[in-house]
Amino acid sequence: MKTLVTGAGGFIGGHLTRQLAGLGHEVVAVDIKPTQNWYQLIEKVENHTADLSLLENADLYSKGVGQIYNLAADMGGMGFIENNKAKCMESVLINTHLLQAARTNGVEKFFFASSACVYASFHQDTLDISPLKESDAYPADPEDGYGWEKLFSERMCRHFQEDFEIQTRVARYHNVYGPRGTYVGGREKVPAAACRKIIEAVKSGSYEINIWGDGHQLRSFTYITDCIEGTIRLMNSNYSMPLNIGSSEMISINELYKAIIEIAGLPYEKFKFTHDLKAPQGVRGRSSDNSECRKVLSWEPSVKFRIGIKETFDWIAKELNY
Ligand code: NAD
Repeated sequence: MKTLVTGAGGFIGGHLTRQLAGLGHEVVAVDIKPTQNWYQLIEKVENHTADLSLLENADLYSKGVGQIYNLAADMGGMGFIENNKAKCMESVLINTHLLQAARTNGVEKFFFASSACVYASFHQDTLDISPLKESDAYPADPEDGYGWEKLFSERMCRHFQEDFEIQTRVARYHNVYGPRGTYVGGREKVPAAACRKIIEAVKSGSYEINIWGDGHQLRSFTYITDCIEGTIRLMNSNYSMPLNIGSSEMISINELYKAIIEIAGLPYEKFKFTHDLKAPQGVRGRSSDNSECRKVLSWEPSVKFRIGIKETFDWIAKELNY
């Protein structure tokens, strides 16, 4: 039976395609980008370029497929989602048409990549926060635009399971990072952006870095190998409610810069930091409560930030000929 991975030319979709192909799945990989722009092209995988927001394409690539992993979305880091709310919400067409196509074509299982951005902002407006548990998404007050789309699409998965008996799985990813993802161009997220900014500051000789916000905002970052393991474990489970796939290791943005500089073997005292308090910075504090994840998957993300970011930094450094 075939497995469809959407958004396969992107960061998480590329890693997932590689892992599934390695596990022996016959993978059909689809992305709207031309294949020469994909982060990874995996041997023996059927690769296609198509816009999956169109029902006819969603239908075409769902035929003869047993499982769909939907990772396609028009998204990016905080700078992108705060300035492109309508664009982010249009991804609802991708998930809706894929669910409809899955139903028509008798697909057994459907995975949707949701996000910690569904969580109500009033749980995340101080530094003194509790890790987010799945029930904290309601009463709803998600990230405007992107978070509302994710919350709606989660709900749609739930009702497709209840009304049409397709098995749906929903992961709430928390800040995933790693090699072979976006690090430049405006859609990059903090860890990759920080690696790039550090390299640029050294290359230019200025050692100047501008940080968005005061840098005290707290986050947890999930390494890509944990993300992929959690995704496949969740798909293979019997659990149909949204589940956190996220690290519980908290770090402030200032500490993140310091950690990367140290790991790169650079002199921290040489760097000059400024803070842009008007730049997009998202919620004040966020991390993942993994009680439910441990219960359901007998597992939780465990890769430490200092380990994962070393791999990420080395990859970005190579890309930038550093
Ligand atoms: P990404 O941008 O690298 O990958 C998404 C891919 O979807 C891109 O390659 C893009 O070209 C493709 N795409 C967009 N519109 C499409 C369309 N109409 N038809 C077909 N393909 C289309 O992002 P990612 O980090 O790999 O994220 C994958 C999924 O995980 C997304 O749904 C994202 O919202 C979700 N997510 C990611 C994170 C994270 O930290 N990376 C956190 C929470 C949720």
